[in-house]
Amino acid sequence: MSMLTSKDVSCPHCGAVVKTQMAEGINAGENPDLKARVLDETLFDWKCPECGYEAQLIYPCLYHDKSKNFMIYVVPNGCNCALQSVDVSEAFPQLDGVTKRVVSTLTGLKEKILIFEAGLNDYAVELVKLALAGVASKKHGANVAEGYFCFVDEPGGRIVFSFFLQNEKEPVQQSTRMDVYHKSLEIVESAGACAAGDDFIAVDSTAAERVLREYRGEEE
Ligand SMILES: [Zn+2]
Repeated sequence: MSMLTSKDVSCPHCGAVVKTQMAEGINAGENPDLKARVLDETLFDWKCPECGYEAQLIYPCLYHDKSKNFMIYVVPNGCNCALQSVDVSEAFPQLDGVTKRVVSTLTGLKEKILIFEAGLNDYAVELVKLALAGVASKKHGANVAEGYFCFVDEPGGRIVFSFFLQNEKEPVQQSTRMDVYHKSLEIVESAGACAAGDDFIAVDSTAAERVLREYRGEEE
């Protein structure tokens, strides 16, 4: 399924009305070009052909990878058209066992794709990220604004993240042993956090903190 729609967009700079293609649905297998634009974070880039003004076009987009069995819905913050724009149950009658996530940014979508393509559990990845954010913050003496999973270094047995520190433009890399990931996965499983439901859920730092609380509660 690829849902490309063409809409008129008025340039906020010169007022020109520009026919613009928007990808409301992306099928990972059938739309490698759109997938590539997610991975290089240019999917929402928009440029006015009249005056050259560049902007980000933000709209909801549903990403589906059938072979790896996951769906990710990008619902930008403050976009109230949100979840009604695609009737998921009608478009995908067989959703059983599909991992469903909601994210608010293109970077968030890219991260989820990288996590699931690496065969990792995103709750466990978020737990590792939470711990490493603390390490990065201490090491660089600055608060961490955002953090993202990057890749697994198989030969080195390490999981690698990048962190954006407050007031710094360039991210810093921080990695740890895969053992930490496996330990986190045990925590996630014992807290019973990854039951598959019908809803698209956000698995982010808040979800990771909830898992930790449940886990600690269990231990008391
Ligand atoms: Zn323009």
